[in-house]
Amino acid sequence: MKKIELAIIGSGPAGYSAAIYASRALLNPHLFSGTEVGGQLMYTTEVENFPGFPEGIMGPQLMQNFADQAQKFGTKIVFETVTAVDFSLNPFKIWTEFPNTEIRKKFETSSPSEYATIADQIKKTDPSFVAKAVIISTGAKAMRLDLEGEQRLMGRGISTCAVCDAAFFKNKKVYVVGGGDSAMEDALALAKFTDQVSIIHRRDSFRASKIMQQRIFDNKKIQVLWNSEVTGLKGEQKLEQIEIKIKGETQNLPADGLFLAIGHKPVTHIFQNEILLDNNGYAITAQSNSLQGLELARKRIDKKGLVELPTMTSVEGVFAAGDVVDLRYRQAITAAGMGAAATLDAEAWLNE
Ligand code: NAP
Repeated sequence: MKKIELAIIGSGPAGYSAAIYASRALLNPHLFSGTEVGGQLMYTTEVENFPGFPEGIMGPQLMQNFADQAQKFGTKIVFETVTAVDFSLNPFKIWTEFPNTEIRKKFETSSPSEYATIADQIKKTDPSFVAKAVIISTGAKAMRLDLEGEQRLMGRGISTCAVCDAAFFKNKKVYVVGGGDSAMEDALALAKFTDQVSIIHRRDSFRASKIMQQRIFDNKKIQVLWNSEVTGLKGEQKLEQIEIKIKGETQNLPADGLFLAIGHKPVTHIFQNEILLDNNGYAITAQSNSLQGLELARKRIDKKGLVELPTMTSVEGVFAAGDVVDLRYRQAITAAGMGAAATLDAEAWLNE
């Protein structure tokens, strides 16, 4: 069991920013990368809105820069996934291993409700690390439609990342589900490889930014199926057909690819009985855009009328930053800012 000062869980912009600040503050941070090292930006091509890069920068390159900068100042990147935590007593316990392969398999496929029993098994073993303070920056994951066969066909026609997989669909018939910026971005990425791109959206208007919508409407390779829903999937070895309901009428359409761009959910199952989460599973801090966040903030007003340690969760010494807290802005730059703030709060708390 290794004793550490500050554990940062998650390797997206929030985690790495927290690590850059923490290593410069000589907190000897250990950053646990998880399996998806670098987070969601690893699945993006060009990032055009991160300040400091007027020509734009590729998402993976930006994340490599973050990691290099964190390591330059002494951050230890632990390329492991945190499998369980115990925040009931300080120092906080952190596990990164599994007692056996059966538990490992269950961990990878379990729903949040099934996870509780797995956690019990893991916590019977000795923790891998103990930390005085923790910053949670585990981000969010792509949502699924929850249709029969979806899991089986994932990577066999179904994808949650057009930027990663578009090139496999040259001249193929592909569909994108969703009406937000991600769906627009995915459709545009796919249209570089095929002229048979359809967006399936459940309403008659998009919520995506106007500029992205305009790019879709201007692109002759992309059509939009309004008021439509995917209701079934067909294919054994790979996706062959999708069943969709268009304006109430069911149709079966041949499909080579189906790209899901229907939002994200926070990665918080390992924290579910440790810190307060909101109804959507987001970590609650005094910065959360919710009533629960406001309630926490009210409890933490200091003598000067300011909220103390705004990035602290319901557990003293445990902080949270980035998409795991934020269901509103969800930008690399806002996550990075929150990561820096979380370290400043953690440092102040550790000093006390
Ligand atoms: P989002 O804005 O939450 O959009 C999700 C879309 O999926 C919505 O149109 C929603 O429909 C639809 N949807 C949700 N559940 C569904 C279901 N079960 N079946 C069918 N459709 C479903 O998510 P996002 O597009 O991933 O964007 C997230 C955030 O990241 C946003 O703030 C966005 O601006 C930002 N972002 C920015 C960029 C960029 O600036 N380049 C790129 C990507 C994302 P309804 O509209 O009916 O709710």
